[in-house]
Amino acid sequence: TQQVIAENREYTLFSWSVQQQTHPIHMTGGRGSYFYDGDGNTWLDFSSQLINLNVGHQHPKVLEAIKAQVDSMCFAGPSFATDVRAELGKKLAEVTGLAKSFFTLGGSEANENAIKIAKLYTGRDKIITRYRSYHGATMGSMSASGDPRRWPVEPGIPGIVRVFDPYMYRPPMGGSASEWEDGCITHIEEVIQLEGPHTIAAMLVEGITGSNGVLIPPDSYYPRLRALLDKYDILLIDDEVMSGFGRTGKWLATQHYGIVPDIVTCAKGLTSGYMPLGAVVVNQKIADYFENHFLAGGLTYSGHPVSLAAAIANLKVYEEEHLFEHTLELGNYLGERLEAMKRKYACVGDVRSIGLFSVLELVRDKKTKEPLAPYNGTSPEMAKLAAHIKSKHVYAFSRFNMLWVCPPLVITKEELDAGLAVYEEALALVDEMIGAPVAA
Ligand code: PMP
Repeated sequence: TQQVIAENREYTLFSWSVQQQTHPIHMTGGRGSYFYDGDGNTWLDFSSQLINLNVGHQHPKVLEAIKAQVDSMCFAGPSFATDVRAELGKKLAEVTGLAKSFFTLGGSEANENAIKIAKLYTGRDKIITRYRSYHGATMGSMSASGDPRRWPVEPGIPGIVRVFDPYMYRPPMGGSASEWEDGCITHIEEVIQLEGPHTIAAMLVEGITGSNGVLIPPDSYYPRLRALLDKYDILLIDDEVMSGFGRTGKWLATQHYGIVPDIVTCAKGLTSGYMPLGAVVVNQKIADYFENHFLAGGLTYSGHPVSLAAAIANLKVYEEEHLFEHTLELGNYLGERLEAMKRKYACVGDVRSIGLFSVLELVRDKKTKEPLAPYNGTSPEMAKLAAHIKSKHVYAFSRFNMLWVCPPLVITKEELDAGLAVYEEALALVDEMIGAPVAA
């Protein structure tokens, strides 16, 4: 294992890392909610890898479908009709309420193409996005992102206009959450007016913002946003790469709010990561436009049959194993457990949870809400928290002052409890570090 890790580091570059600071785990396999390392440890995967492995590690039905597709036809160029392309296209139209899918290799490329499609269809140039967002690491999607991951490519592609988020715990203008509930929409209208509505092609939003802290909007947000964008003929692109495909217990997070976007982008939970695949799903009007206009885009591997077969099998697993129902039910329990932690630990400032998409936002002081680590930074307390969780072989995602709970949707209540017990130990250590009284 030490040699494998050394050679990984000697001959390969790890993403989003200062190479000297990478400490990769040598993964050798997995099953369900667990994966194994080369030292013989079993890890509880509390972040579904990159919040994508929704059906868990090595689901036999997805593996079987991949093997069958490899045997029958491993590759077809992107301009060929295939059985799997027809089947998945039809299924995505059904579950999104939209019309046609354009297949990509992942989420970044899906957003890249969604932006391009919106510009071609509307003849307008600008895209509104939100500050606390991530849309990918290719040039366009990285520029469209709002969080610090965009900084290395600034100024990026032209025409990106950013607005504030429905971040109800910390309204960006100060004031109360209820004031911001109105403000977070009226502010977007003002930006539209000032930018010139006729210059704006689309607004690109994460259905529910994921890697910036599971920002769950108030119930009124999406219906009002949909109406606002309709008023100015601006398209709504819903990035469901992380929040879609069961993560919140529905196909799309925006389905909790009863709206239908014009374009949906998806990836991650589309195949649960078993093969690389993303999709841009467009509504009927946009699909019709491209009946007699040129769709400028596509890669050698677009619509790769093995990826499509993996997606079809993965979506069947969601339905056959009633995983969305399970997610909603277990999600209710998880929400209650996290709320109890908020009451118990001084360092838990806010809890946001929907389905198995959850975050704990950590603070030094519940009253002042001073974050436990600065934006785009870390702190000894966050480092201690992460180190403790890792030492117990629970694989968790933490960033800035936040700690996520995003296990595979197949996780059982007992497995969830085991991971949460480790989280509680870590929160108690943080309380001790910030000098809070010992939790009862
Ligand atoms: N959009 C969102 C909301 C994401 O969370 C991610 C990945 N974390 C992406 C886009 C990019 O997807 P990919 O890494 O598959 O390119």
